Amino acid sequence: MGTLGRVAVLGGGIGGLAAAHYLRKRAPGAKVLLLEGSERLGGWLWSNRRPDGAVFELGPRGVRPVGAVGRNTLNLVSWRRLRTC
Ligand SMILES: Cc1cc2nc3c(=O)[nH]c(=O)nc-3n(C[C@H](O)[C@H](O)[C@H](O)COP(=O)(O)OP(=O)(O)OC[C@H]3O[C@@H](n4cnc5c(N)ncnc54)[C@H](O)[C@@H]3O)c2cc1C
Repeated sequence: MGTLGRVAVLGGGIGGLAAAHYLRKRAPGAKVLLLEGSERLGGWLWSNRRPDGAVFELGPRGVRPVGAVGRNTLNLVSWRRLRTC
């Protein structure tokens, strides 16, 4: 990736978060601004944990670990040490 100055990423769903992540990784000098219109990040990804510990996924609840895209998703989960339920 060439030289990037400032980049605005619109939307803090998984697409925007992943874009911001890879921009930071591949263009470390770039200033990345993530703009989210709502009060929370995640977009459709929304895990709702009840007091008894049960977790309800209000949006997606699985990844398809197939091919390069699936491998990339699993790498991202592993790199961020995201917990699975
Ligand atoms: C019920 C359900 C089940 C699903 N199950 C699966 C599954 O099991 N596996 C799977 O792989 N996929 C699943 N999907 C699809 C997956 O959830 C979506 O493809 C993915 O979450 C989309 O991410 P995104 O970042 O592209 O968009 P979004 O999650 O829609 O995020 C967009 C973000 O941009 C923000 N935004 C919008 N407009 C503006 C603006 N003008 N300025 C600033 N911010 C803005 C929004 O507030 C939001 O936070 C499911 C979807 C649903 C609804």
